[in-house]
Amino acid sequence: MFADTQCPYCEKDVEINHDDGYGYAEDETYTQECTHCGMTFSYTTAVTYSYEPAKAPCQNGEKHNLQQIKGCPSELFVAKMRCKWCSEEIIVDQKAHDNARKAYFEELSIRSEQAQTIATRR
Ligand SMILES: [Zn+2]
Ligand SMILES: [Zn+2]
Repeated sequence: MFADTQCPYCEKDVEINHDDGYGYAEDETYTQECTHCGMTFSYTTAVTYSYEPAKAPCQNGEKHNLQQIKGCPSELFVAKMRCKWCSEEIIVDQKAHDNARKAYFEELSIRSEQAQTIATRR
């Protein structure tokens, strides 16, 4: 990293000394001596965020670009899709989705009942 900022006294480029990660915390004021004029100045760290823009046709009158959500257990994601563009999640077939969920939880409770039966038999 070089020419991080400018000295407020002589307006020359100065590097911020980041030894040991110093000077990276946000909203904290640090001081450093200018390597050019020897004056001590203070600085605060401002973190800049970068954004990656992408087209979102579904927000401009087109249909969502839906893709099946892959998850675990897969039963809970039946008929559940996510838009590639705006990341909205939509259940395309509510009935199929509910049935798959229900079957999954029934299966779970049957399994735990069986486990209990085996445990009490001992
Ligand atoms: Zn200076
Ligand atoms: Zn969308």
